[in-house]
Amino acid sequence: MGPFADIDHESCLGFTKSKADGAEILAQRGVVLAGLQERLFANGRSGDTRSVLLVLQGMDTAGKGGIVRNVMGMVDPQGVAHASFGKPTEEELSHDFLWRIHKQIPPAGHIGVFDRSHYEDVLVVRVHNLVPRSVWEPRYDIINQFEDELIASGTVIIKVALALSFEEQGRRLAERLDRPDKYWKYNPGDVDERGFWSDYQAAYQAMLDRTDTPGAPWYVVPANRKWYARLAVTELLIDALERLDLDWPPADFDVEVEKARLAATRE
Ligand code: AMP
Ligand code: MG
Repeated sequence: MGPFADIDHESCLGFTKSKADGAEILAQRGVVLAGLQERLFANGRSGDTRSVLLVLQGMDTAGKGGIVRNVMGMVDPQGVAHASFGKPTEEELSHDFLWRIHKQIPPAGHIGVFDRSHYEDVLVVRVHNLVPRSVWEPRYDIINQFEDELIASGTVIIKVALALSFEEQGRRLAERLDRPDKYWKYNPGDVDERGFWSDYQAAYQAMLDRTDTPGAPWYVVPANRKWYARLAVTELLIDALERLDLDWPPADFDVEVEKARLAATRE
């Protein structure tokens, strides 16, 4: 993997089709994803403890919310466990940084989605030294250990770093300021954070260098083209679910007996 700051943000990696084709393929792949997710959920109902966790990181406007809406929106919401992590509350700050994360670990059979995550504690926290280096520095190892334990307990972790360019973020923030229907997404603080762009790129690089583990690798997804990023994340989810090799859970009742009982019912 080359340096995070130097990737081609416009890239569609190996995907050579157009945006219109991409939208069509997304819809088709959404059907596949929904089928796999239903199997995961069905197995969860039958005692299978496995789950999937999608971790989304990216700068403001990188498209995290759009992935939640457009990718997770293609599957049954009852099987999705969504959590977003903003500025910690007083209570959260009084606990260990993983305290609020533990509470949102996806239940068996669910696909959990983290819109921001424990990684903020080595990103925004590192950039602004919200805690001393002696506190944030050990967090890389703490996170790796936390994720290893999560994997051992049956959660497949997919970590996505959305890679947006400085110019594209500028365009997206300008659009939020131009459109009353987008004001709600605009936060004056986003411009302050933009001023720390290169510090954030370095913090993302350190995160990738220190927490890209065999069990929970990072996927850097070019994010300047929203439609491409959505398709890429859909494929990552499909791939993870296919590797779980999920079958429909067998009946925990006697099918023939139940058919006979049903046939015998009268009004
Ligand atoms: P948004 O995702 O646009 O709602 O913004 C959430 C904000 O919360 C971002 O500016 C994050 O950097 C910030 N945030 C998330 N986690 C933390 C954390 N652990 N410490 C400080 N700020 C955080
Ligand atoms: Mg925001």
